[in-house]
Amino acid sequence: MDDKELYRQILGVVAPWKIKTIELALEQDRVDIYLEWPKLQDGTCPECEKTCKVHDRRTERTWRHLDTCQLKTFIHCQIPRVKCDEHKTKTMEVPWAEDMSRFTKQFERIAIQFLEASENRSKTAEVLRLSWDELNHIMEKAVNRGLSRRTDDTIKTIGMDEKSYLKGQSYITVMTDTEGKRILDVVQDRKNKYLIFI
Ligand SMILES: [Zn+2]
Repeated sequence: MDDKELYRQILGVVAPWKIKTIELALEQDRVDIYLEWPKLQDGTCPECEKTCKVHDRRTERTWRHLDTCQLKTFIHCQIPRVKCDEHKTKTMEVPWAEDMSRFTKQFERIAIQFLEASENRSKTAEVLRLSWDELNHIMEKAVNRGLSRRTDDTIKTIGMDEKSYLKGQSYITVMTDTEGKRILDVVQDRKNKYLIFI
């Protein structure tokens, strides 16, 4: 099995997406994987899912993926834009990440699971080798995903609870759905909104 086939399977790259090149930089503890949509391959409109001609490609974007062999793993791609008769020029969706994210879906899922298990942001950031901002970005996205899924009309009673963390130096206010036992929102220092899982 060659490197591309190995990474194709590890990353779950589904045709017609394919791996163009893999760059290994051991001294930097990272591997960079370049994905591409084949040149003559028609694309799919993200609005109506019709098959359309590829119009052009966007400038390259990079996503952090789960580590492979303890190497920080990054996916790069110039996402094609299709020309749809109805929806004009649209950027195609990619299967590995949500729009505007700097991380793959798998990475975000693991980060949130780690946070749930550890209940510790510092540890999560350290283990996943994330900056504070990067972790907050993932948490914000999880909140927004939860909010978009949630229907408030199913919530009958709400509980508020103040909890301390960082050895009592900081406080967060947790809002819960007391019947459904869901955490609805977490507010830190009453200014910055954080987490959590819904
Ligand atoms: Zn369309």
